[in-house]
Amino acid sequence: MQEQDLISTVIRPEVRALSAYKVADATGFIKLDAMENPYTWPEEIKQEWLKVVHDAEINRYPDPEAKSLCRILKQYNNIPEQSNLLLGNGSDEIIQLLLMALPANSRVMAPEPSFVMYKQIALCLGLDYQGLPLVANSFDLDLPALLESIKTQQPAIIFLAYPNNPTGNLFDTNAIKSIIENSQGLVILDEAYAPFTDASFIAELPNYKNLLVMRTVSKLGLAGLRLGFIAGNPEIIEQLNKVRLPYNINILTQCSAEFALSKPEMFQEQTNTLRNERARVFLQLSTLSGITPFPSSANFILFRTAKGKATETFAALKEKGILIKNLAPQQGLLSDCLRVTIGKPDENNAFINALKNTI
Ligand SMILES: *Cc1c(COP(=O)(O)O)cnc(C)c1O
Repeated sequence: MQEQDLISTVIRPEVRALSAYKVADATGFIKLDAMENPYTWPEEIKQEWLKVVHDAEINRYPDPEAKSLCRILKQYNNIPEQSNLLLGNGSDEIIQLLLMALPANSRVMAPEPSFVMYKQIALCLGLDYQGLPLVANSFDLDLPALLESIKTQQPAIIFLAYPNNPTGNLFDTNAIKSIIENSQGLVILDEAYAPFTDASFIAELPNYKNLLVMRTVSKLGLAGLRLGFIAGNPEIIEQLNKVRLPYNINILTQCSAEFALSKPEMFQEQTNTLRNERARVFLQLSTLSGITPFPSSANFILFRTAKGKATETFAALKEKGILIKNLAPQQGLLSDCLRVTIGKPDENNAFINALKNTI
């Protein structure tokens, strides 16, 4: 049999049409491309953690519901008593799980540009994905257009990243409420960048049956663990639980996350430093001619270079050992745009200096 015949026999056309999510090899670079927290733990905390790992019963299946971790996450994130939680192997897995539960041919909606996995997973599952453009330059929601699309297309689910990735802004609160109120389907507020903003829809959960809030520990400083959660209406969480694989949160993640979240002051200090650095990097970027940074409530900053200069600026930074994200190939509202993750002060300085010498 020809290889192509085999592929078309066993792989759905919508999957064949996709490209896999690619991650750049960052070996040897100052890594400012993936919204990771640059700080590791003090040695004494690592030693304490190793004792916890030492006692993990690796021969046993983990608690399938991760009850103890759920309690801690609920407390750490001020989740209302009446809301329930479902955990995922990263919030990426939760997006997949939400979409797998939808009726066949459902419509999935998200603003664009936004987090690419909404579209990637929707297409992969053969769902009807529709991206709705944000307003140019402000990157805010185009509310009239969104409400019109909701009315005519009746999406089963809408994803809103709050703050949005890759633009960094918070959408207007009243626009979001209006979307929730006018939607017959689910509205998912993806609060992956919660550690870097005080804005949140978690307190609104009891007010809306169709609102779910998703968070992750990745951007907080635990990207290697792969742990996310979604909170909201217990009746919906109960249904989603049927789609979830029984032991999706492994025992090392469960015990390590519990341990880490018992050190809130450590994360508070790290994220405060990153917030201050974000303000400093923003100011520095604003002074560079030909560079336009966009205000951010996350741990990264989107900025625009002079026309047609983004890809060469990205390459020149890479040549100088600094890896950021080139968004220019996505074109449209992201034409000439690059995204830099906020790192440690010396990493940020290296980035700013390299950029100065590049433009
Ligand atoms: C990074 C990111 C995620 C993915 O988080 P994981 O928990 O690491 O899978 C989800 N949503 C947005 C908007 C992100 O930027």
